[in-house]
Amino acid sequence: MIVVLKPNLTKKQEAAVLREIRKLGYRPHVMRGVARTVIGAIGDEQTHHTLETLTAWPQVESVMPVQKRFKLTSREAHQPNSQVKVGKNVVIGGDRFHVMAGPCSVESEKQIIDTAKAVKAAGATVLRGGAFKPRTSPYEFQGLGEKGLKLLAKARKETGLPIITELLSENHAEMVAEYADILQIGARNAQNFQLLIAAAKTGKPVLLKRGLSMKVEEWLLAGEYVLANENPNLMFCERGIRTFETYTRNTLDLSTIPIVKKESHCPIVIDPSQGCGRADLVMNLCKGAAAMGADALLIEVHPNPAEAWSDGAQQLTLDNFKQLMDELPPFVAASGRTMA
Ligand code: PEP
Ligand code: MN
Repeated sequence: MIVVLKPNLTKKQEAAVLREIRKLGYRPHVMRGVARTVIGAIGDEQTHHTLETLTAWPQVESVMPVQKRFKLTSREAHQPNSQVKVGKNVVIGGDRFHVMAGPCSVESEKQIIDTAKAVKAAGATVLRGGAFKPRTSPYEFQGLGEKGLKLLAKARKETGLPIITELLSENHAEMVAEYADILQIGARNAQNFQLLIAAAKTGKPVLLKRGLSMKVEEWLLAGEYVLANENPNLMFCERGIRTFETYTRNTLDLSTIPIVKKESHCPIVIDPSQGCGRADLVMNLCKGAAAMGADALLIEVHPNPAEAWSDGAQQLTLDNFKQLMDELPPFVAASGRTMA
């Protein structure tokens, strides 16, 4: 920690601060400038948090941490890229680029099976579909619940694709984990820490969306809850943040790809569908994300978006998706990967 002292302190006032720093388990190193005295407090900030209490002292101008607050998710803690195994054959975070695709919501057996078959034929390796939906209004379609999970399991059986679906409540953790290969924690729950712990404890891979107005540091700290609860299989998913812009539903922050890669060893997945809310932009965002080094994409695809029960405007048709998959390889190659 760096402790900046206020100017014109007496020796006695300064000595009291030094005593307190020692008392809290740090070794003070005093640096005297022309106008200010700064103290470098040497010690492990992960175990001695209490130095921040010095901010309340009248002698102290400010206290600044030097170490990062996230630990297990950080690149420092684990140099190589983490690889997350999903189902039997999918590894996210390696040299293969994966595409997870499927409808926003599971609506019927025919809808999910037709979509699963089509996205698999086009090259997707994970099937998405919401069974429990976090809707802004309680009057909108809330998802089919466990029936939706059963339909996803059926689609997996028919196609062999592992499935990702959202976990909305701690109460459902065991049930959803029984069916899902990846538990999605949605943007609205990204800082629901009890839910993150419950998800971690199932042992299933967890995909953590970025919250609507979440800073990267907060997101990495939320991920920390998963790793700290003995589940190493964490993926971050950027899905756009709330800004003043209204051309798009959210502002997809692709800068998080190099940031998360630099700060963390966990894979980063991009969801351009929630990210922009417009099917006509999804293809370009996917290409950009692939070229920038994302590990995977999470894309909404529906056999008939015009009649979708949720998020119709942003879902690709089966034909659009096929075209995207055909055009994606050079962009994936640009970041040194190959399509799975
Ligand atoms: C979704 O994937 O359909 C969804 C609701 O995502 P988010 O939590 O990112 O809004
Ligand atoms: Mn959606």
